[in-house]
Amino acid sequence: MKIWLDGALRDAHSAHVSVLDHGLTVGDGVFETVKTTDGASFALTRHLHRLAASARGMGLPEPDLDEVRHACEAVTRANPMPRGRLRITYTGGLSPLGSDRGEAAPTLVVALGEASARPDVTSAITVPWTRNERGALTGLKTTSYAENVVALARARQQAATEALFANTHGRLCEGTGSNVFVVLDGELHTPPLASGCLAGITRALTVEWTGAQETDLPLDVLERADEIFLTSTLRDVQAVGRLDGRALPGTPGPVTAKAMRVFAERSADDLDP
Ligand code: PLP
Repeated sequence: MKIWLDGALRDAHSAHVSVLDHGLTVGDGVFETVKTTDGASFALTRHLHRLAASARGMGLPEPDLDEVRHACEAVTRANPMPRGRLRITYTGGLSPLGSDRGEAAPTLVVALGEASARPDVTSAITVPWTRNERGALTGLKTTSYAENVVALARARQQAATEALFANTHGRLCEGTGSNVFVVLDGELHTPPLASGCLAGITRALTVEWTGAQETDLPLDVLERADEIFLTSTLRDVQAVGRLDGRALPGTPGPVTAKAMRVFAERSADDLDP
């Protein structure tokens, strides 16, 4: 397995990042996960722009997006696989203990793993913790993902694959690694970015391609939703057939099935929409 580190392709087992890297010591980093199919990456330009926006939001130096694109292409070419997940990690880099980020050069790592096939229907839970819709990191894709890891572990204990958060006002927000859509009276809705959710790339494309409305919704809308689905780079559009133990009969319902179909068709037509 070849990865990209410090400006070159390297063998994954012998490539090292310093133990004093800010990304490790204080979680000072941003990342992207990009889907690849037979060596072609999906929506790479959008991912690069979000990486830069997250870096800016964290006060990291502006990433060289030409280098990041080149690294993604080199890693994808070096590790052929039918369905992959590129992981781009960009951190504050090496800095002596006790000092702040200072003049440290950022660390860029690009690695590729196999993307496992995901079922069309999954189970989710809600968690009692809140997303802060006005925090310093709101809307940024940072490597400070521990809260998501904890919530996902709780989901797994309940045989679910995703945990959904409300924000501090009890409004529906997003999952640990996905955005959420609900069908109410036949209409498709998703929380607005002001809810504190990440500006998901799959979410944006789904809104564009289905005409879903961005609506501020209370969390308990999930109890009466006719259909619920998740969107993310690795899930695409994935129906929720069980939420907090409540079965949603007939999943995927008609609106979800249409969103799945439209997403599959449009994304196959245009790899960098
Ligand atoms: N929300 C969070 C917190 C995420 O981490 C992700 C993706 O990893 C998403 C939403 C979905 O975003 P995208 O569709 O760009 O993968």
